Amino acid sequence: MACFQPGHGVTKLDSNVWLPYCCLRTNTSAGDFATLAHEIVHATGDARHIIGGAQRTNLMSEVTGQRADIYKAHIDRLAKAYFAK
Ligand SMILES: [Zn+2]
Repeated sequence: MACFQPGHGVTKLDSNVWLPYCCLRTNTSAGDFATLAHEIVHATGDARHIIGGAQRTNLMSEVTGQRADIYKAHIDRLAKAYFAK
């Protein structure tokens, strides 16, 4: 399963060859400069997004341009990720 953020970034989770990895477009910006951090959380194996207008400032929101908050659960996933060891 892959997560696509149209126009900004993508994280590939289902490769049979590579560990999860992120790609970012360098010629566009989400405005909040949070796309890399968003994709890195996906690379922990979590393809989900935070849905809902009240959560639009969450890093894992699908809404771009306003992401500034992160859940402790996502921080914990980052700390345990393969790339953090
Ligand atoms: Zn995403």
